Amino acid sequence: MANQSSAIKAVVIRRGEDKRRTSAAFESLSMDALPAHDVLVEVEFSTINYKDGLALTGGPIARRFPMVAGIDLAGTIVDSADSAWPAGTRVLVNGYGLSETEWGGYSTYQRVKAEWLTKIPDAFTSQDAMSIGTAGYTAMLCVLELERAGLRPGDGKILVTGAAGGVGSFAIALASQAGFEVVASTGKPDAEPYLKGLGASEVIARGDATAPIPALGGETWSGVVDCVGGPLLAQVISNVRYGGCVAACGLTGGTDVPASIFPFILRNVRLQGVDSVFAAREKRVEAWSQLAQRVSREHLASITTVVSFDDVFDVATRIVKGELSGRTVVRIK
Ligand code: NDP
Repeated sequence: MANQSSAIKAVVIRRGEDKRRTSAAFESLSMDALPAHDVLVEVEFSTINYKDGLALTGGPIARRFPMVAGIDLAGTIVDSADSAWPAGTRVLVNGYGLSETEWGGYSTYQRVKAEWLTKIPDAFTSQDAMSIGTAGYTAMLCVLELERAGLRPGDGKILVTGAAGGVGSFAIALASQAGFEVVASTGKPDAEPYLKGLGASEVIARGDATAPIPALGGETWSGVVDCVGGPLLAQVISNVRYGGCVAACGLTGGTDVPASIFPFILRNVRLQGVDSVFAAREKRVEAWSQLAQRVSREHLASITTVVSFDDVFDVATRIVKGELSGRTVVRIK
């Protein structure tokens, strides 16, 4: 059990000298440096998401300084002022501004607000929970949005863009497990066996982001989980069938979406944004409960690489370059 004199190992982001860049490094913190929130968690695992990669390589993620990085954490409560969350409870936190405005999971201990906590489902270890992490939870939110829009297996193909990434990998597995025929769009030709192993029936090349975007293309997709954004999202929207839905969550391909209005007003296409960070509590609880029912531990093991805390900077550089596939879990403890 930690006491006030215990040293904490954490990745701390500080503002660079020119204020436009940030720099991140391991630091030793004292227990009383942690935020004054109600619940102290001994962090066992965190993850590397694209956003973590940006945060550790000088990207504009942190908005308060100093900041402790890591958008996800899983561990065990060791001290709590909230009777609903007693010591010994296994918990996870996704989002809520961790690594942006609130101290995050790259820390051997962290203090968090009770309202941010989700109980780790009994079906999962804390490593499993982080293997899912923000990526799996976001993919579940996306697939639930497609189902909420009325899409059912048999309605037509579902496209997943950014397929070999963390969100994409989960979206393929979750949609195919739900019975949908899933097509994976990727910039990594070598990833085909991996993507088919997740449940994709077909793998297609990412496509040329500079190609002209038709106002209306062929009606190819009944639904889309889009992790890429930018011009690729605009192209994809032009190929959605009448009444289809696009769940858009990512921006690895850019932030401007030069789409035509026609798919929306002539085909009744729905563009559904997905935010995991401040998703309502009921949506989070539903997503984690569905993940516990739909995701097997064997599947998690097959897509997950576990790295040590000391390797986190190396992995951050690689995820930003688009070199990683699947999920990377960071062993903090
Ligand atoms: P990863 O880095 O694991 O995956 C991103 C994937 O995007 C890559 O694997 C690659 O897929 C594709 N990609 C990378 N660079 C480019 C590019 N220049 N053009 C087109 N495609 C590219 O990230 P995550 O899966 O963790 O996150 C995916 C996206 O979703 C990110 O933008 C992230 O910020 C966002 N996100 C949003 C959330 C929300 O709440 N809305 C929550 C979580 C993530 P491939 O190799 O198959 O081509």
